[in-house]
Amino acid sequence: MACHDEPGMLTVATCRERLLNTVVPLAGSETVSLAQAVGRVLADALNARMDSPPADNSAMDGYAVHADDLASDAPLHLVGSSAAGHPWTGTLQPGESLRILTGAVVPAGASAVIMQEDILREPADSTHIRLGRALSPGENIRSRGEDIGAGDALLPAGRQLTPADIGLLASQGIASVSVRPRLRIALLSTGDELVPPGQPLAPGQIHDSNRVMLQAALLQAGFEVLDLGHVQDELDALRSRFADADRLADAVITSGGVSVGDADLVRQVVGELGDIRVWKIAIKPGKPFAFGTLPNSLFFGLPGNPVSALVTLEQLAMPALRALQGTRWQPAWTVSARLLAPVRKKPGRAEYQRGVLSQRDDGAFEVMPLAGQGSGLLTSLSRANCYLVLDQDQGRMDTGESVRVQPF
Ligand code: AMP
Ligand code: MG
Repeated sequence: MACHDEPGMLTVATCRERLLNTVVPLAGSETVSLAQAVGRVLADALNARMDSPPADNSAMDGYAVHADDLASDAPLHLVGSSAAGHPWTGTLQPGESLRILTGAVVPAGASAVIMQEDILREPADSTHIRLGRALSPGENIRSRGEDIGAGDALLPAGRQLTPADIGLLASQGIASVSVRPRLRIALLSTGDELVPPGQPLAPGQIHDSNRVMLQAALLQAGFEVLDLGHVQDELDALRSRFADADRLADAVITSGGVSVGDADLVRQVVGELGDIRVWKIAIKPGKPFAFGTLPNSLFFGLPGNPVSALVTLEQLAMPALRALQGTRWQPAWTVSARLLAPVRKKPGRAEYQRGVLSQRDDGAFEVMPLAGQGSGLLTSLSRANCYLVLDQDQGRMDTGESVRVQPF
């Protein structure tokens, strides 16, 4: 333990590791069409079925010529044309040329394509062309299999499919893929003070902002969300809602009720039904984060403060949720940026402060930490476009110092 650790707090790295060690990825698969596949996770590794492109084809509008004529200045006889979708089926001979359009199959016998801008032509002669310059073999030809060859690795198992992956699959003639079932996450918020947006507030009440916010983040990550609503800080109500959540979902995510106040009953209920494995992390915001196991699912207890809830979802829960879904979690990219204002920080916890990242004309990054860093300040999170990632042992920092930044 480093000298600044508060007793009983786990480091962010240890927390992530413990969560990942508990995860057993979801099994099973279902077949979906490519139109439904973006964001889904490939169940099996795929190899290329065919050479792509399937045939040599022209990269330009121009004329195909024989290998013997690459440097010829004699007139070359025009013997036909090849357009995309309409191949010319002959074999090109020495002394011949073929009109060819972009994407058209390059016929047998042809060795290069000359751009139409580079030919010489007698105005009255529509049957011959002459080369305006010498060509090298293969010039302006996209060769068969240059994108990928039959049998080559196409995509690995566990890949979360991107739009480009979908295009790649389609180019292979693949119309549907076997993917992992979507991870089902039951989401509920706790707190006697909460009222759904759209309903009026009585004195002492606030709107439940966490549930829809967390739902949005989980949907964006490609998970299925079961909205189990809002539960009062009451043991029996919590027990029955947790039992429902555990029955319906692969993971249960709650907000609120995990710190040390009298009304923080969530850990007690999870402890009765299952096992709390992790509690209290050296992270700011988000120290009361809890993790555990339920009979059929994993439990992630996010703190109630909205900024803490989203930060701990992203930084602590997401790696495990992705692993559960069958994808490999990779730490988000960070860039190094110059501080435009001092950072206030005490050693002891890793901090994810909110900031506004910008890029100067010379390409260098600069970051302005937002003034309000309170864990209840949703405006600061909404106005930010990055986290300043500050190590546990880091103290205050001055303007001009270099800081690690994680863009949203
Ligand atoms: P708790 O973790 O339950 O002690 O809550 C910490 C703070 O977050 C309190 O000020 C709560 O009112 C607030 N809070 C808890 N749940 C939510 C929620 N779903 N939406 C907005 N604020 C919340
Ligand atoms: Mg509460």
